[in-house]
Amino acid sequence: MSNSRSLKSYRSKRNFSRSREPSGKKKEQNKQPVFVIQQHDASNMHFDFRLEIEGVLVSWAVPKGPSTDSREKRLAVMTEDHPLAYADFEGVIPQDEYGGGTVLIWDRGTYRNITEGEDEPKPLPDALEEGHLAVWLEGSKIQGGYALTRVKYRGEDNWLLVKMKDDKADARRKPVNTQPKSVQSGRTLQEIAAEEDEKNS
Ligand code: MN
Repeated sequence: MSNSRSLKSYRSKRNFSRSREPSGKKKEQNKQPVFVIQQHDASNMHFDFRLEIEGVLVSWAVPKGPSTDSREKRLAVMTEDHPLAYADFEGVIPQDEYGGGTVLIWDRGTYRNITEGEDEPKPLPDALEEGHLAVWLEGSKIQGGYALTRVKYRGEDNWLLVKMKDDKADARRKPVNTQPKSVQSGRTLQEIAAEEDEKNS
């Protein structure tokens, strides 16, 4: 099983003299692993779902964002691993740079691995490799079990993000629509973009 997650791809896509994103190093794992969901107003609006695994943030782009309805399957496209410091990044990536657009910290918290294993949860690096993992999220907007499962979609490997059936599942909540503000700063995407504009003018 691979235990060599790398930030090479992350770094090669970015120019850190132009973007304020963290250049990031792999670092010690947090005692309690973290997750973050960042709304990213890039060429296509999407939500980046990131889980701390082996000292990096393993990342998926989720076009529609997470649902709290266990009947909804959300397409999740795996992207390059990001540095742990990215969990604190909110701001504007210059338009002509990779991922150009506004980033808002939509939700953040800790999580635990609940992937079924023999005696204890299957380690997440193995679960990733095998294409199925389950985590219990403790965020401000999102809580409870979420499963990620690798599937073939349009001939390519993709993933589905699905709310598991537990007491945090709620088909009526639509937090992506009703709770748009940053959990870090209380700002909207528009406010973040406007404030960055001011800084740069
Ligand atoms: Mn993104």
